[in-house]
Amino acid sequence: VMLPLATAKRTLGMVMVFTPLQESLVTQENLRLLSVLARQCSLVMENSLLYDRLRRKNDSLKKANKQIRYLSQRDALTGCYNRGHMNEHLPREIRRAIRYRRALSLAICDLDHFKAVNDTHGHQCGDQILREFVKSVNEIIRTDSDWLARYGGEEFLLVLPETSLENATRLAERLRTQIASKGFEYQGEKITITASFGLTGFKPETAPGIPHAEALLNRADKLLYQAKSEGRNRVVSGPFAPEKAP
Ligand code: GH3
Ligand code: MG
Ligand code: MG
Repeated sequence: VMLPLATAKRTLGMVMVFTPLQESLVTQENLRLLSVLARQCSLVMENSLLYDRLRRKNDSLKKANKQIRYLSQRDALTGCYNRGHMNEHLPREIRRAIRYRRALSLAICDLDHFKAVNDTHGHQCGDQILREFVKSVNEIIRTDSDWLARYGGEEFLLVLPETSLENATRLAERLRTQIASKGFEYQGEKITITASFGLTGFKPETAPGIPHAEALLNRADKLLYQAKSEGRNRVVSGPFAPEKAP
C-alpha cells in the first residue's frame, strides 16, 4: 500500500506499507484508516518542520540582535566603545562605586596637535593612528573592568573602576610615556604623537554626595585644559570636587 504524506500546503513524502497478510485484508475500511493515520503523521511532520524553521530563525535573530547591540555600542573607526555606551555606562559605574564603596577614576585623553598630523600626513594616516592608539591603550588597561570610549574626534574617555586617583595617575603616566615613546608607523614613516590627560576620581567615603557623570566629566575636562595649557604631553590629575554654584 502506498500513501502520500501531505498537508494542504505541500507533499512531505510517502509511506509504503508492505504486508505479508492476505490481500483480502486490504479492505476499503483499512485503507481509509491508513490514510487517516498518514494525514495525522503529515500534520505532526509539518509542525515539527515549522518548529525547526522557527527555532533556526529565532537563533539567527538572537545572533543579529547581539551583533546590533555590539555595533551600537562601538565606535566604527577604532572599535572602542562609543559615546552611547559612555552615556549609558558611566552613571552605572558611579552608582556601583557608591554602592560597593569603591574608588572610581576617569580620564579624558586628547591627542596633541592632531590636526597637524592630518595636515602633514593625511586623514588616512590620522585614522590609522587613532586605531593604533586604541590598541595601545587596550594593551595596558585591564579590559575586564577598565574601559575606553571615544568621546569626540581625537578625545577618549578612560574609566577605571576600583582605582584610586593615585593608581590612576600612575597608569595614565604609563600610558602617556608609552604613547610618546612608541612612534606610529604609516607607510614606512615613523610618526611620533603625544597625548594629554585630565584625570579625576573620587572615593565614596569622602565624596560629597553622589557625583554626577556630567560633573566628573567637566572636572576632567578642566584638568585636561590645564594639561594643554601647561605644554601638553602630560597628566594633570585632581580629586573630584563639585563646582560651587555661583
Ligand atoms: P590640541 O593639542 O590642542 O588638542 O590640538 P589638536 O590639533 O589635536 O586639536 P583640534 O581640536 O584643533 O583638532 C583636532 C583634530 O582631530 C582635527 C580633526 O581633523 C582631527 N580628527 C578628529 N576626528 C578624526 C578622525 O576620525 N580621523 C582623523 N584622521 N582625524 C580626526
Ligand atoms: Mg587634540
Ligand atoms: Mg580635542
